[in-house]
Amino acid sequence: VIPGLKGELIRTGVVTGAVLVAGAATHFWGTAVIVGLIFWMMPHAREFVRMRQWSRHPMRRPDNTVELWQEPTVRVFRSLRLLRSRIRRLTTRLRYVRSATEALPDGAVLIKRNGEIDMFNLAAQTLLGLSARDVGQNFVSLVRNPEIASLVNGQAAEGLVEITATHSDLQLEVRRIDIDETRMLILARDVSQLNRLLSMRQDFVANVSHELRTPLTVILGYLESLDHDESLDQEQLRALITRLGSPAKRMKVLVDDLLLLTRLESSPKPSQTDVDIVAVAPMLESIVAEARQMSDGQHRITLEADPSLRLRGSEFELHSAFSNLVGNAIRYSPDGGDILVRWFATQAGPRFEVEDHGMGIPAQHLTRITERFYRVDLSGSRARGGTGLGLAIVKHVLKRHDATLGVQSELNRGSLFYCVFPQNSVATT
Ligand code: ADP
Repeated sequence: VIPGLKGELIRTGVVTGAVLVAGAATHFWGTAVIVGLIFWMMPHAREFVRMRQWSRHPMRRPDNTVELWQEPTVRVFRSLRLLRSRIRRLTTRLRYVRSATEALPDGAVLIKRNGEIDMFNLAAQTLLGLSARDVGQNFVSLVRNPEIASLVNGQAAEGLVEITATHSDLQLEVRRIDIDETRMLILARDVSQLNRLLSMRQDFVANVSHELRTPLTVILGYLESLDHDESLDQEQLRALITRLGSPAKRMKVLVDDLLLLTRLESSPKPSQTDVDIVAVAPMLESIVAEARQMSDGQHRITLEADPSLRLRGSEFELHSAFSNLVGNAIRYSPDGGDILVRWFATQAGPRFEVEDHGMGIPAQHLTRITERFYRVDLSGSRARGGTGLGLAIVKHVLKRHDATLGVQSELNRGSLFYCVFPQNSVATT
């Protein structure tokens, strides 16, 4: 049943009756019919105008009042409203997905089979140098890289190439993923850091091998001379064995340092509940006593340590870091001189420092001395028993204690190495 139809039929009946009555009474049938038609049409004309007006802004409710007209207009209005809320939900979802792809560190470019760029994310702009107006352009001719061309044309092995970006010196790994017959996805990943790490690892292995090889060659040399010379007496033999001790000890120190460094790098930071309360002052006394033995009276080593200032941390690691710094001060002050070791409270936090008046470090080396195996003077360091790992160990120990390492140095004047620990690492109980 159509709503309002009954009322409309009644109205039509009334108008027709009125026309008949008026026609019969006046005999002006033509006028009666026209007037009747106008009466009948009037509400529909009004509703038609209302509907036209509404159709300009169909998202607001139609204001038709005649029931017969209300039903179709309100129906259209309701489905439009439903569509709108669906579109809104989809748009929100689309924005959500889009913001996720925008946040991706990898560049993603969607291209059609004919090579035309369909869309890409923010990372693709920075990694591949694309810009918003490049949509619809040919990807290969934009990027202008022969390896990318072979990747897009399906000639690259395993659908993967490694390139250097044209507009930056970033190393990129670019992968092709076929989505369907009409589209493919090109993914670009910045592998510069990864490549750097790989080459660092290779350098490290080469360095370790080289460092071990030198004392090993010495040991082998002595052993060979033993093999060839049968006339050696007891005393000569003992002297040879003593000489063998030095390169062997060198290898042990190196291996010990390597193991410690690996442990520092790979083991998790000790938790706050798991740390020692370290009495730094007595620890420094024993380090300085050892240093005095090592110096053999050549240096005047002074210790100024606040005995009440104790630290929460790893006793073993801190001992290793502090003795490395004190050891370096002696090692790199070949002409003797004063060495001052201090442990005191500052506003920034507890501070440990070692000041020497030795050979100092040229400014251009300062940023690199904490790298593994980095030495200002390689043969000098080796001759003094250095492994090249001391400051790397110090750096890692301090990092694990949220502390910072600072260096001030002047060539031929001396150096000041200092470590500042966070205020909350002071042990209060
Ligand atoms: P090494 O075992 O060679 O001492 P480190 O990592 O402890 O290795 O130090 C790296 C380099 O930094 C040293 O080879 C040396 O050139 C320089 N260096 C470290 N401490 C000092 C210092 N107190 N005075 C001068 N140079 C230093």
